[in-house]
Amino acid sequence: MPELWIRMENDDSNESFCLQCGNPILAMVATCPHCGGNDLEFARETLRVRRIDIGHDNLTVHQARVVLDKEMATSVKNPDDFLVIVHGHGSSGTGGKIKVMVHDYARSMMASKLLKDFIKGEDLTRTSAASRRVSSNYPPIKLLNEWNRRNSGLSIFIF
Ligand SMILES: [Zn+2]
Repeated sequence: MPELWIRMENDDSNESFCLQCGNPILAMVATCPHCGGNDLEFARETLRVRRIDIGHDNLTVHQARVVLDKEMATSVKNPDDFLVIVHGHGSSGTGGKIKVMVHDYARSMMASKLLKDFIKGEDLTRTSAASRRVSSNYPPIKLLNEWNRRNSGLSIFIF
């Protein structure tokens, strides 16, 4: 039955799997839980990514923090893989302060084990230590459009 064949092929294309043993990969891992291999194929469709913008509505640092708290609670309850936070940039002014708040927030969430890691947009380059760390620990991050595109106006939280 051609229809069945097509449906099965579509299902396969939406699945992350191990190229070494062929088993499905159901979580964001660096190595295959079945064979220990690290040749994994991640399907973009299976990634749970949310994007929020707290930098363009003239929010105060406090208001931005409230929005972030709400998003964080949602992500913890119904786990996302990645939360991309657009916070604006600048070394001064509200944009810069919101950015500093987001980075401090990420560090405190990591300390509380609510966040596995985070990367600043300015570190989204091929060679940064942060970029190498997160791509080796959480390979699917390389599927994000933001990957390798240095942009100090955003940060990515990794759950
Ligand atoms: Zn495997």
